[in-house]
Order: sequence, then C-alpha cells, then structure tokens
Amino acid sequence: MNFRNKYVLAIDQGTTSSRAILFNHQGTIITLAQKPFQQYFPKPGWVEHDPNEIWYTQSSVIKEAMAKADVTDSHIACIGIANQRETTIIWDRETGFPVYNAIVWQDRRTADYCEELKSQGWAERILQKTGLVIDAYFSATKIKWVLDNVKGIRERAERGELCFGTVDTWLVWKLTRGAQFITDVTNASRTMLFNIRTLQWDQELLDLFTIPASMLPQVKACSEVYCETSTPIFKKGIPVSGMAGDQQAALFGQLCVEDGMIKTTYGTGCFMILNTGKEPVLSQNNLLTTIAWKLGDQTTYALEGSVFVGGAVIQWLRDGIGLIPNASITEQMAKSVYDNGGVYFVPALTGLGAPYWDQYARGAIIGITRGTTAAHLARAALEGICYQVYDVLTAMENDIHAKPKEIRVDGGAIANNFLMQFQSDICRYPVVRPNVLETTALGAAYLAGLAIGYWKDIDELKEQWCLDKVFNPQMKEDTARKLLNEWHKAVGRSQNWVE
Ligand code: ADP
Repeated sequence: MNFRNKYVLAIDQGTTSSRAILFNHQGTIITLAQKPFQQYFPKPGWVEHDPNEIWYTQSSVIKEAMAKADVTDSHIACIGIANQRETTIIWDRETGFPVYNAIVWQDRRTADYCEELKSQGWAERILQKTGLVIDAYFSATKIKWVLDNVKGIRERAERGELCFGTVDTWLVWKLTRGAQFITDVTNASRTMLFNIRTLQWDQELLDLFTIPASMLPQVKACSEVYCETSTPIFKKGIPVSGMAGDQQAALFGQLCVEDGMIKTTYGTGCFMILNTGKEPVLSQNNLLTTIAWKLGDQTTYALEGSVFVGGAVIQWLRDGIGLIPNASITEQMAKSVYDNGGVYFVPALTGLGAPYWDQYARGAIIGITRGTTAAHLARAALEGICYQVYDVLTAMENDIHAKPKEIRVDGGAIANNFLMQFQSDICRYPVVRPNVLETTALGAAYLAGLAIGYWKDIDELKEQWCLDKVFNPQMKEDTARKLLNEWHKAVGRSQNWVE
C-alpha cells in the first residue's frame, strides 16, 4: 500500500476533553483539535459525563482536525483510540441510547461497598485474578451500582438487552453504528472483571458483582484491524486498528517497549507505569498490576502507581489561594531561593494514592518559619510532586528488585525545568523529556499504524523517537537523602488526618 500523503488519526478521549490529532509518517503532529465537555457532580464524590456529549465532541474534533489539515477520508490510513479508563457506560443494544450517565473513574459512590468487599476477605482473590486493589476507581462496582439503582435496568440486562463498555467500546460502537461491540485487553484489565492471566472475563467475579456476561464486549488485542468505520463523519470506511487505555497508550508512545522501561505523566495527577515484560508481577507495595498491551499473541504486563495530586497542587496555588498568577512562574520562584527553607508541602488534598492509599490523609504545609516566603511555598509544592513520584518509583524498584535506566516523562507540567531537575536529583536517575509531548495520542497512532503496515515495526518507530532534554542528578546524594528523610516525616504528619 502507498502511504505517501496519508495520515494516522488518533482519537484521544480524555477525562475533561475530547481530542483528535493527525500524525504523519514521521510521527509529527499535523493538526490537533480539542473540545472540553461538561463534568457533572450530582452529589459530593460523584462524577458523571454524558456519553452522547463524549461522542458529539469527539466526532466534531475529528472533523475539525481533518478540516484544519485540509484532508479528506482518502488521506486517513487508519484510526487509533486512546481513552480515559474505567469510566463506565451502559446502553441499549437496540437503540444505542445510554440508560444512565457515564460514571467516571473518579467517582467514589461505591467506596462503602468496596470496604464491605474487603472486610469479606475478597482482596487477595481479586488481586490474584485482576492485579487490582479493590477500589471504587474500577468499573465493576460502578456497573453493579447502575444495575441495582436505575429502575428496570437489571431485568433488561438479564434479558440481554444492554451493553456495558468503557469509553473505547462506546466510541467503536458509535464509529460503526452499533456493528462492533469490542474492547481491548488494556481497558478490560481496568474493569476488575478481567482475569489478566487467562485474558478472559472472569465468571466468579461476574457472579460476585451480579453482572450478566451478555453485557460484556469481546476483548481484542491492541493493534489489529478490528473493523471499518460506518459513520457519516467519513464517506468511506476507514480501518480502526489500534486501541489502548490512555496510560498504556502513553507508555507505548514513549516507546517504553522493553522490560524495565518506565514513564511518568505529570498532569493533574502523576501516573507512573513500568513495563515488566511477559509475566505479571504482583506488587508487595500497593501498586497495581495491569496489561501494558497485547501485540499479536504476545501480552506485555506493567506495574502502575498513581499520585492523585500532581500538577493540581500548582493549580491550587493559583486558583485556590491566589499565590501565583500562572503555573509556569513557579519555576522562577523555586529557582529564586537557595533551597526549600525547611518547608514541606504534602499535597494530600484528596488523600494519598500509591503507595500509601490513605483516603483519610489531608494536605499539610509544615516547617514554616518567619523567614518563609511565597517562593518557598511554590518550591515546596513542586518538590512535593517529585517526592511523591520518588515514593512510587521506590515501590516499583522494590517490586522488581531492579533499577530502571531512566525515567521518560510527559504531561503539561514537564515544561517546568526546575521540576524535572529536582526529580532527577531526588530519584538519582536521568529524567528524559522527549520532543513530542502528545505521547498518549502518539501511542494510539503507533498501535493503529503498525496493524496496517503504515509503520513496518517497532524498530522503525524507535528511529523516530526524538529527545528534547535529559536532566541528570546534580544535587549531592547526602542532601537528597536528608530532604527525603524530612519529607517522610511530613507525610507522617498528614496521614490519617480526617476521622
Ligand atoms: P491533564 O491532562 O491532567 O488535564 P496536563 O497534562 O494538561 O493535565 O497538565 C496540566 C497540569 O500541569 C495542571 O495541573 C497545571 O497546574 C500543571 N502545570 C502546567 N504547566 C506547569 C508548569 N510550568 N509548572 C508546574 N506545573 C504546571
């Protein structure tokens, strides 16, 4: 096939916006279009999206990205999808109408039920099968909530009239006007219903959560031609040939394709994911085991740890207390002081994620003296992001009994050079910032392009990988150790705060 003048369309369906990006054969962005959509907070701790709005915004940015590049269908070689994970949509198989809003991964409405499951002793069995810690985060308890709480839904589900899908499944359904009901292994591995060893939906877990198997999509690999589109967006059918959850797609986009390679995304939260190769590694340190991707018959596994508040702490400095006019000024402020002046900021604003998993922790700023300035606070906030990432990284090293070579980074906050340098100083690793920052979309594009031969193989992709900057440790090791020691004291003060 001749791919000259052809592009790969990446769909990057995120938590707050839908994006579409066209990549060329060099893996360079041609055009990008993005639309935010409404977040619904019906009650404290509840977060919902309108599945139809997800689709409308997504289809409109696809059209916009193509129009901006002045291309038609015949220029699109294939489509790859990366999506917000765990978010749960249930719809009618006949009409395609959702029966309830999408329940978003952040939604905590099933937290009490999760506590019940833990007290019934399910944690170990669920960990062994799914690689996951029991938590409201994952789809299983959200599906059960809809079946139990929306009138008439359980009966309809039992009659086989309803479909469940994560956002990938919903988008493929819409792109094919209901002809395809599929997901991929990475998204399946975040439902808490999927056995990551057998790569099958798990009947014992379906029984536990009282979910009829007929609701579940067929599970596919991450890079294969699943179907062709049949939506009015395109005049002709375009192959849909790549799918992965957003964090896995970013790992692939960063080309962390060898055992032991690691990437961290610095966005609202920080997401660290480590390629552990062909066997699942179960964590002894409260990390999640998940599927990185499946290419052909080969499954690759990963360890994952999430920090809930990363860049969001900078947002809070700006919007919450008005200490700074914009995020980027924190770099200058942090560099304007010799050190943190003894101030530590534990950004446990919504509790602490991995490896602490303490939902009762709250934010703490400690070590304040008369000499403390706004610059020290800004610096302490940036340092706090890095210390949290250090803690997840240490948990990973302890699980795999090895040290990765470097940390590859992406996400909005990596523009901050102080943050990157400090991360390297604390972790004692090279921190590697690539040229293409849209690694999630790039990963989806790569998966799709590989399936149709747009790119020959992973080696060809490796040749495209382009470095922006490497940050190497400069701080003395003793100093780093002292800072970490004080950080851990500060974490102790923030833990178990609310009753
Ligand atoms: P998301 O995809 O989670 O919405 P992004 O990857 O767009 O997040 O990153 C935005 C986050 O990064 C925000 O929380 C913002 O406060 C933070 N951020 C952006 N630029 C900087 C900067 N120069 N220094 C520190 N933090 C930043």
